[in-house]
Amino acid sequence: MVRAGRIVMPVLDPLYDASSEQRRAFEEWDRPSRTLQIRSITFLTGLLYIVFSFIDGMLLPAYALPFGTLMHLYVLPPLLFVISAMTYVKKLYRVTVVILALSPVIANLGNLYLYGILYPVSPYLAEIYTPEVSLSIIWMFAISGLRLPFALASASVTIAAHLAYELYLGIPFEVLCIHSLWIVAAVSFGILSALILDKKSKQIFLDSRELEYLATTDKLSGLYNRMKIEAYCLEEIERVRRYGGTFSIILLDIDHFKEINDTCGHNVGDHVIQKLAQIMSESVRSVDRTGRWGGEEFLILLPETGGEQAFGVAEHLRRHIEESDFSPACRVLISAGVAEYAPGDTIEKIVQRADEALYAAKEGGRNQTRLG
Ligand code: GH3
Ligand code: MG
Ligand code: MG
Repeated sequence: MVRAGRIVMPVLDPLYDASSEQRRAFEEWDRPSRTLQIRSITFLTGLLYIVFSFIDGMLLPAYALPFGTLMHLYVLPPLLFVISAMTYVKKLYRVTVVILALSPVIANLGNLYLYGILYPVSPYLAEIYTPEVSLSIIWMFAISGLRLPFALASASVTIAAHLAYELYLGIPFEVLCIHSLWIVAAVSFGILSALILDKKSKQIFLDSRELEYLATTDKLSGLYNRMKIEAYCLEEIERVRRYGGTFSIILLDIDHFKEINDTCGHNVGDHVIQKLAQIMSESVRSVDRTGRWGGEEFLILLPETGGEQAFGVAEHLRRHIEESDFSPACRVLISAGVAEYAPGDTIEKIVQRADEALYAAKEGGRNQTRLG
């Protein structure tokens, strides 16, 4: 049983083996579209119940009409419209989902009561009201926007109440059979659709994450690629312009890298880039961003960091690299150029200052840092 679960669950749930953090990220990603779904479906269902109450006026006998009107006009549409409105308040999401799960249960209990008072007088009329139950079960699973566990809870209460009440009413066995068939069909259609929809959205989430990773990451070093690190720099310029503060960048380049390639081979050169990327990632703060700017050139973005401070970071990094073991390559050295944001800077201007500083470091004998 457990083994079967291990085989079936990954097929049904692409996030079966995912970490809780990844599941939370999926919930976050999925929430806006789910919220929109809940908002529009509850609004539409509320409108349809108003139409239902007008049809009640044509169908229901006088003794049942007040209850039909109470449910289909005064209880369900306002409840559904309130749920729809609640979706605009982010903080109320959990409460909204609970009320959403309760709403079809309330509708079905009302439907059952109506069935109960109609059945002894006119079984024909009572039968006209039964499709609401099956339809609402499909609604819970596949249409409402409820997650499967909530839909299952709502459907279980509905089905249990339905069976118990019909047994209590003593309806003929064959009628009980056909009602049960409708319910089984609704539950199976509903669960299947819910699983397929859930699987699809999880797959889209995973695919979009993979695509985002591929589009923003440099394959060899695992660092951000040039496009992404440039985007972070632009964001930082925007942030500093709007809220003040400062930031700096470090542009660093491996010294005589061509020689490493020529003497040790291209694969060893690749290994040096990977090891260097690892050292850089481990050396900077979590708020700093590191990217591969070009072949053996890297850019580190340091938010809320002045030029002098960034110079210190670059020097520390340079010494750390100098002391690190890159075997099978021999010693690896770097030169770095540092530039701090100046008012009116564009990305081109600040990178140009860092590049000039890097050039000066190279000209000055390499294995050193210069502040632009
Ligand atoms: P300098 O000290 O002036 O920076 O000299 P350098 O040899 O490091 O600079 P140069 O621009 O002459 O050579 C850079 C070399 O980096 C040439 C290029 O083949 C190599 N390179 C660029 N990208 C990669 C890569 O992904 N892997 C490897 N193995 N080599 C690369
Ligand atoms: Mg170089
Ligand atoms: Mg270079």
